[in-house]
Amino acid sequence: MLKIENLTAEIDGKTILNGLSLEVAAGEVHAIMGPNGAGKSTLSYVLGGRPGYEVTGGSVTFRGQDLLDLEPHERAAAGLFLGFQYPVEIPGVSNVQFLREALNAQRKARGEEVLSGGEFLKLAKDKAGLLGLDMDMLKRNVNVGFSGGEKKRAEMVQMGILDPAFAVLDETDSGLDIDALRVVGEGINAIMRAPDKAVLLITHYQRLLDVVKPDRVSILSKGRIVKTGGPELALRLENEGYDAVMAEPA
Ligand code: ADP
Ligand code: MG
Ligand code: MG
Repeated sequence: MLKIENLTAEIDGKTILNGLSLEVAAGEVHAIMGPNGAGKSTLSYVLGGRPGYEVTGGSVTFRGQDLLDLEPHERAAAGLFLGFQYPVEIPGVSNVQFLREALNAQRKARGEEVLSGGEFLKLAKDKAGLLGLDMDMLKRNVNVGFSGGEKKRAEMVQMGILDPAFAVLDETDSGLDIDALRVVGEGINAIMRAPDKAVLLITHYQRLLDVVKPDRVSILSKGRIVKTGGPELALRLENEGYDAVMAEPA
């Protein structure tokens, strides 16, 4: 589903991704772990096409298409979803308005019918229920005054509504207490665990991986993937730390 080959990217002339290669197959949850500053968030921004992140080499193929050739909205319409480490607040725009606009923009881009207000509300209610988020929260302005946990739940409701083929989730567990972590993790499973979908799950912690069990785990360090293994790799990182695990031969 996603194939990244020898990707290099820079910000302000500084190389951040430095020959990164990674493959994620349909049906997989692939966890990315790595020290602070390794380039994890940069990888998610580059996949999303964020301005300022300049790709200087390599390729990214998404569902057979050259992802880097697509505009950010075209990437979304092609089935890519990005969850952010720090969700933004949008004063003056309600979640319901925002989500309906986002969904209908994607549907139009795919040549599909847009949803009526009623159809949309039914869908939103359904997904909010899955994440234990009250519909009243969705009527409030996007993320304004939301707790960390509420922002993450709202983001997972957004993911449920957009129903992407591929989700890149950057530290979705940051700022979550144990209960919220479980709800969000189970939400990710419910929305994204399917044979025709895949997830790139960026996290520092095993506790999210206890809920969203990864098929593959890769360590990102200094802008490249230095080790890939099964779920046991995450457990070893938790017990032994990055330095010990990365010091071994790949
Ligand atoms: P991670 O998410 O793994 O903690 P990041 O992708 O956020 O790492 O950052 C990778 C490196 O890029 C860090 O050294 C960071 O300081 C640098 N970096 C990130 N954003 C910028 C920026 N806007 N300008 C310059 N350097 C940046
Ligand atoms: Mg970080
Ligand atoms: Mg980060």
